[in-house]
Amino acid sequence: MKINAISQTIIPKIYSKKEDNVFIANNKENFKQNLLLNTYFYPVNFTSRKRTANSTIPSLRLRSSNFLPNRFQDLPCCSCGKKMLTKKKYYEIKQELENIDPNKYLEYLGQYKEYMRPVEESVYNQLCELSKKEGETDLRTLIVSLRENELPELQKKQMKQVKKMNKFAKYLTLNEKKELLKKTLELENEIYKKNSIAPFRRKIMLDNIRNIKISNKKKHEKLIQIAEGFPSSKDLSSAWIVKYSGSDKENKPWNSLDIAQRFLMSSVATTDHILAYTIDPNHNDITNYIGMHSGCNEIKQNKTFMHWLHEDKENRIQYMKNYFLAVQNLIDSKKINKPMYKNYVAYATYRIYKLSKDTVKLFDDNEFPLTDDEKALIDTPKPVNNQSQNNQLLCNNVV
Ligand SMILES: [Zn+2]
Repeated sequence: MKINAISQTIIPKIYSKKEDNVFIANNKENFKQNLLLNTYFYPVNFTSRKRTANSTIPSLRLRSSNFLPNRFQDLPCCSCGKKMLTKKKYYEIKQELENIDPNKYLEYLGQYKEYMRPVEESVYNQLCELSKKEGETDLRTLIVSLRENELPELQKKQMKQVKKMNKFAKYLTLNEKKELLKKTLELENEIYKKNSIAPFRRKIMLDNIRNIKISNKKKHEKLIQIAEGFPSSKDLSSAWIVKYSGSDKENKPWNSLDIAQRFLMSSVATTDHILAYTIDPNHNDITNYIGMHSGCNEIKQNKTFMHWLHEDKENRIQYMKNYFLAVQNLIDSKKINKPMYKNYVAYATYRIYKLSKDTVKLFDDNEFPLTDDEKALIDTPKPVNNQSQNNQLLCNNVV
């Protein structure tokens, strides 16, 4: 993961080393503690960039990295319904793995199955089955033996998306078309290299597509949307298997410890913006936040709330209800006792109701009521004045 120039100037001493894609504090213990509590240290794939923390509701404004529910273990993810880990807990698991016999990884991970996202759980189950059959316990050996079967399947899916992009070229000008076809040809070559690291190239490919200069903004957005459909190890088990049975960016084979850690790395709780930051960056307040696994959040990224919801509507409505009730429990039991959170559930569910054009009502009005004045904060947001907020906050990942 790249740190951009701005963050390098601000935090040069704290982050100095990249290890297993995890930024760790280089020396001082207190820095390390601080990192665990306050910053993202794992590689969610949001590129580091300078983000503002504007909100139309100043009294409820908060950096999303300080959203308190993420500090509590076991809340359900709003996207997949599985339990979420805190950053602290994930870090503990990571360290425990470093200290146990590699042949025990599979067994050890079993106790955390309820935290694995569906894609990791599916791979985990496949590996357990194979292990039982063959008496093999080494993770790397097991996953490599699944690779041969999964690679053609993945390549087929990757090519389907490349074809879609090529087909779209006919809507572009001659130069734009030329540039797009050049990029997709490069990608195609990657896909067919047997030892391809193509699943890794997804991010690079997306950046390439974003960087093509296309004069018509709508067409460019449509093209990016097609590119985002390119298979990802975050939601497709064949991509997961091919990725981690291969080599990393430095061409080093992923070892069993790397692989073991990946089963839970994407299960850490992150803050998702209900109204995506990329669509409107002016809602960095608790009314716009829900909890989501970092992996699930990464897949949602730029999607509109309704687009995301419709991918798995009934389930996601239930997951969100479960999530809000669990957070309300923390508030009622004073585990979260900052006044700001008093109406959190009422505000956030009202925002969902408005974004769904009054179709998705998670709870009855009388369960989590808001006054008309409170509703108006979300109905008619005031324009944000950057000067008065004076708070161009630097956030490493998700704001
Ligand atoms: Zn999830």
